[in-house]
Amino acid sequence: MIKKELRELKEEVIKCRKCSLSKTRTLPVIGQGNHKAEIIFIGEGPGLNEDRTGVPFCGQSGDVLDELFESIGYKREDAYVCNILKCRPPNNRNPEKKEIEACAPYLERQIEIIQPKIIATLGNYATGFILEKYGLEDRIEGISKIHGKVFQAGGVKIIPLYHPAVAVYNANMKETLKKDFKIIKNER
Ligand code: URA
Ligand code: SF4
Repeated sequence: MIKKELRELKEEVIKCRKCSLSKTRTLPVIGQGNHKAEIIFIGEGPGLNEDRTGVPFCGQSGDVLDELFESIGYKREDAYVCNILKCRPPNNRNPEKKEIEACAPYLERQIEIIQPKIIATLGNYATGFILEKYGLEDRIEGISKIHGKVFQAGGVKIIPLYHPAVAVYNANMKETLKKDFKIIKNER
C-alpha cells in the first residue's frame, strides 16, 4: 500500500534544492519498503549505486543488509529503509551538519507517517540524530559502544547498529551485526 503522504513527500524531495547536494546528485534516494512498516532502518546517505538508481542500499552495503535480514528470516520489503540525507555527498564524504539540518525534516515526516515501533539506526550519524530527536542526547556514544542497546523513547524503541558498510570486507563485523539483528527480532 502506498500512503498518499509519502507520495507527496517524494514529489517534494525530487524538487528539493535546500542544500548544495542537489547540484551534484543524479537521483534523490527517498526510501523504499512498507509504508506501514513496524521497523524503519535509517542509514547515512546515498552512495554511488543509490545515486544512479534512486534505490536505498542497492550496492555492497545493501547486499550485507539483505544478508542480515535473511539471517533473522525477515523480508526487506516488510521494513522501510531510508537515509538521513536524500542526496549523495560527492565522493561519499561525510554529511555536513547544515546538510543534515536541511534534510532531516523529510526523515522526520517519514517517521511520523509510518509510525514504526522500532527505529534501527545504521552508524554514527543516524544514531546521533535519532537519539537527539527523542531527547536522549546524553546517551549518545560512539557506535562501537552503543550498538545493540535498546532505548525506549515514548512508544518507540531505538536500536543503534553498526553501518552495514563496515561488514563489506570484515566477517567479524558481520557476525556482530547478525547478533544485533537478533536483538531487533526479539524486541519486535
Ligand atoms: N549507505 C547508506 O548509508 N545508505 C545507502 O542507501 C547506501 C549506502
Ligand atoms: Fe534537499 Fe536533502 Fe537533497 Fe539537500 S540532501 S537537496 S535537503 S533532499
